[in-house]
Amino acid sequence: MKTEVVASEKVKAFDCQHFINGRFLPSQSGKMFQNINPATGEVIGTVCEGGKEEIDLAVAAAKRALSGPWKRMTTGERIAVLRRIGDLILERKEELARLESLDTGKPYSLSLTLDIPRAAYNFHFFADYLRSVGTEAYQTDEVAINYSIRRPVGVVGLINPWNLPLLLLTWKLAPCLAAGNTVVIKPAEWTPLTATVLAEICKEAGVPDGVVNVVHGFGPDSAGAALTEHPDVDAITFTGETTTGKVIMAAAAKSLKKLSYELGGKNPNIIFADADLEEAIETTLKSSFMNQGEVCLCGSRIYVERPVYEQFLQKFVAKTKELVVGDPFDPKTNVGALISEEHYERVMSYIELAKEEGGRILTGGKRPDGLDQGYYLEPTIIVGVNRNCRIVREEVFGPVVTVMPFDEEEEVIAQANDTHYGLSATIWTNDLRRAHRVAARIEAGIVWVNTWFLRDLRTPFGGMKQSGIGREGGMHSFEFYTELTNICIKL
Ligand code: ADP
Repeated sequence: MKTEVVASEKVKAFDCQHFINGRFLPSQSGKMFQNINPATGEVIGTVCEGGKEEIDLAVAAAKRALSGPWKRMTTGERIAVLRRIGDLILERKEELARLESLDTGKPYSLSLTLDIPRAAYNFHFFADYLRSVGTEAYQTDEVAINYSIRRPVGVVGLINPWNLPLLLLTWKLAPCLAAGNTVVIKPAEWTPLTATVLAEICKEAGVPDGVVNVVHGFGPDSAGAALTEHPDVDAITFTGETTTGKVIMAAAAKSLKKLSYELGGKNPNIIFADADLEEAIETTLKSSFMNQGEVCLCGSRIYVERPVYEQFLQKFVAKTKELVVGDPFDPKTNVGALISEEHYERVMSYIELAKEEGGRILTGGKRPDGLDQGYYLEPTIIVGVNRNCRIVREEVFGPVVTVMPFDEEEEVIAQANDTHYGLSATIWTNDLRRAHRVAARIEAGIVWVNTWFLRDLRTPFGGMKQSGIGREGGMHSFEFYTELTNICIKL
């Protein structure tokens, strides 16, 4: 079984070039870096390492494209282009899913059923939504009539993480293009593949040259920093770590760019004794370990009301042990490999820390037997820790959760809010009044009741406290990706 895994992943991906002004472009400095498959640790391709030179070219192309054919397209024509991008993503879904899994180590079944279809849907959704975005007019007296027009913000820098590469890229790119902007994308260095294919798809769908540009490279002192510092970039939309967000904010301050951030989370998952426990456990398996726990929305702090605590733990541990960790391309696999050796070491160091802090590992905490290559970790459940432990306070971004009992509603609300993060939360209860009461008091941008990860793209998405700035989704995306000009005419 193990040798098959390695053999199947020897397949080379491809070498990623930048995409600037409608053309693929090699590294200007000649610098390249390796693309590693996390499931095997093997090199599957090379990537052009961009820097200031490529960013300058890409931003100049994006700036020129703002006043080109893209600007002159009618809304109907732009909608058709956006729909075509979505269609082409679906036409190439197996190929894109394969590349996404090669890059990230996530199960191919997940890429095929979640990442890629949702990426296509982002384009279809914002194409449809664009039909309803119009002009606002005000006339309340005979003195004047006012109306506000929406125009693109301009050149948008889009900095992307590695956990859901195409899904999160398209979640921002689709409304950004719908609003008429041009864009320079900096994909995460670990996951360059699907962004490169998407550039090709955009061109095929009829996006004019210069509207979508992709520059590969690293963050600090590299393409990422050059993009955030560029004076001709009008806005930055970023998903990634809170600490990176702070660095980008400082760089963007020099030219006062508009910012939209979706950052880290340490999300509470609260299970009251009156909840449907079977359903809560099934969903908690996903909210804990989906995508190897490498989702900012994962509920890594699980709080269970004392009367059902032991029962929950027993079943949750048993079900977690049944999860299959291994080859992303094996259909039986539930949990693939972590993104990189560096990240694997970081997650392992948190498990060691949890032990030092008095935590007990009920399952997991180690590399699965028989998987010597690749960055695999068994889904891990930790108990015996408290609100002061670093394992409970810091984002691990891996398949690692803590479970803690609670007695009172007030107490669990206080614990849930005892964090500088505020991205999402889940509450499990069948008491309607409690659901509303608790949901309104949890400090998070998204609170799910009796579910997780369910999304309607019209609704606001984002985090409070240090989990983000602003909201995206439906009209909220257009608020960010457009500037309003109010025109006042005296009658
Ligand atoms: P991680 O450490 O998990 O990769 P990051 O927040 O560092 O998460 O990375 C998310 C994205 O931000 C990546 O595309 C990365 O290259 C980029 N990035 C990291 N540091 C900077 C920076 N200083 N300026 C601009 N982009 C950055």
